[in-house]
Amino acid sequence: MRASAYPMLAAEEAAGLVLDRTPVLESEEVLLEAAPGRVAAADVVAGRELPGFPASAVDGYAIRSADGGGRLRVVGESAAGRPFTGALEHGAAARILTGGVLPEGADSVVMVEEVEQDGDQVVVPEAYGAGRNFHAPGADLRPGDVLVRRGHPLGSAEIGLVAALGIDRLRVHRRPRVALMSTGDELVEVGRPLGPGQITDSNRWALLAALREAGAEVDLLGIAPDRPDPLRELVLGAVERCDVLVTSGGVSVGTHDLVKPLLESLGEVHVGRVKLRPGKPFTFATLPDRKLAFGLPGFPVSSLVTLEVFVRPALRKLQGHSRLHRPELPVRLGYDAMAGGDRTEYQRVILRREGPDLVATSTGSQSSSRLMSLAGAHALVRIPPGDDGYPAGTYVEALILELP
Ligand code: AMP
Ligand code: MG
Repeated sequence: MRASAYPMLAAEEAAGLVLDRTPVLESEEVLLEAAPGRVAAADVVAGRELPGFPASAVDGYAIRSADGGGRLRVVGESAAGRPFTGALEHGAAARILTGGVLPEGADSVVMVEEVEQDGDQVVVPEAYGAGRNFHAPGADLRPGDVLVRRGHPLGSAEIGLVAALGIDRLRVHRRPRVALMSTGDELVEVGRPLGPGQITDSNRWALLAALREAGAEVDLLGIAPDRPDPLRELVLGAVERCDVLVTSGGVSVGTHDLVKPLLESLGEVHVGRVKLRPGKPFTFATLPDRKLAFGLPGFPVSSLVTLEVFVRPALRKLQGHSRLHRPELPVRLGYDAMAGGDRTEYQRVILRREGPDLVATSTGSQSSSRLMSLAGAHALVRIPPGDDGYPAGTYVEALILELP
């Protein structure tokens, strides 16, 4: 054991160092089926109007509004995809179905429920105004309108609009390729029997889930033993193929903690200790070719919290998101929070609504080995450093994972 030579950085400073050194990945063109969740690399601009024609919003009769109150001859039909041909004359109506084109000359659609049908004639209500019950051309989008801004994710509505405009591919940022590795001689593959002192490698699966949620493509490297040479081999092979290396375990000051010296030999370590609980030994390095390496602590909660605080924003920056962080909201502590001395502490909480407030209740023991403290948590409340703690009733900022 030796004391760590790395300065203890404030959590915000460490987060800033990470983002300052995180590039934005290049863009690529993808077909719509690959677009969900990707980030637009350029503004998407409408090249034509939407709707492209006056389209009926209901089933009914297309009329000239000046004929309101009259008995009109039904001269034809405009169904979706089968327009009425010709113009609608005075005293005439055309049956129209939802999505049908409003015939030339018509300026309003009377709903079928509002007319009195009498053979091939209909009596329409009086003073029926123009412009009713149809969608005017360009009501959704006009040529030149921006429907997705660069840096914004492509959600279902955006993709629907893009498709409606006839655009079948989009320029998006590449997803980061992340190599994920667990370290530790005590680790065993999930599903295999455990020998004395062994535990199952659970971080791999927890981190895989969190990395995928953050938009990464993950390459699973498996378990590296606590020996420098095999660890180095695995890392060297992986770094070739990836933008980001994420390891768990092996970053604290015990004799078997080999990740920091390895990263030092491969690149530059910028963060080696952070005033953060959980997550003090979090490590961040840059490697040649603008690659990033994150050494997460081994304790399951520490690894997920540091991924949340440092890695997720970086992955979002890599894939071009303009918004890097989770939403934050002030919440009222429903319990007395112990302070972490000079460390910022992220405590896992359940939220409930009380009038206009969100009230936070602890998920129980906040031990960094107790994954149950994160299971089902709605938020991570940020408890600032301080010696006196924060009594119930204090408002603190919370990183929202999911609202109740
Ligand atoms: P370390 O950071 O390597 O000192 O590990 C700290 C603690 O986290 C130890 O109790 C490890 O057994 C545990 N740990 C490390 N890696 C994993 C993993 N992949 N899955 C579950 N627990 C782990
Ligand atoms: Mg270890």
